[in-house]
Amino acid sequence: VAGVDFEKSCAAMADLPTPERPIPEVVFVGRSNVGKSSLVNMVLNRKQLASTSETAGHTRTFDYYRCNRNRTDGRPEFYLVDVPGMGFAENVSRGMQDSWRGLHERYFRVRESLRVVFHLIDSRRPPMNTDVTLMNMVREALDERPASQRFAYVVVLTKVDKIGYRETSVKKAVEQTVECLTSRGGWPASHLPPIITSSAAKKTRHGRDDIWRHMRAAFSP
Ligand code: GDP
Repeated sequence: VAGVDFEKSCAAMADLPTPERPIPEVVFVGRSNVGKSSLVNMVLNRKQLASTSETAGHTRTFDYYRCNRNRTDGRPEFYLVDVPGMGFAENVSRGMQDSWRGLHERYFRVRESLRVVFHLIDSRRPPMNTDVTLMNMVREALDERPASQRFAYVVVLTKVDKIGYRETSVKKAVEQTVECLTSRGGWPASHLPPIITSSAAKKTRHGRDDIWRHMRAAFSP
């Protein structure tokens, strides 16, 4: 990626950017500590994304980054949207959880320029309740959208270096995820989302190509 710069943090649907021509956007969502910042930095070849909302996992905003801006008109090729910490389930008041959850639901249902949702899950652990909530939320939103407006949903199992890349342990992590998607997430076994693995450790860049492949596929008209 040639250039990345922070545009804004959005706490409500009304805050989302409304360019004249829609700009495709990709979203990275996952529980805090799942390895999201590390993965995003690996995908974008950055050391650290600069954001104005650095309040250590307590932000309740969708953070918009402009990627690959056109030199002449300043238009980004795409937006990368960082959704911190699945805030609808963390240590916040009930009211806060509900409003954050509502924002997610509306966003997945109606945001037209949304092209890909990367849902990050730690490969070492079974998906948590918040992950199940997200699986269901995305599935319901996709069901409601007309076919022409469906976004891609990709599950990313992070930190696979910690399970040693071993075929058996990776297989187990994938099976665990499939089991969760079908039994609790309501996904039909015949229409499962792609499940990929990643590691941001050292210089392996494991999973980076897969992520870019999904992004490129989703941007092409
Ligand atoms: P975030 O809270 O989801 O943004 O997670 P971070 O990217 O900040 O990572 C949380 C912790 O996990 C940090 O200590 C990272 O160094 C570590 N971490 C992130 N990704 C990986 C990975 O792929 N492999 C290993 N071994 N550690 C990772």
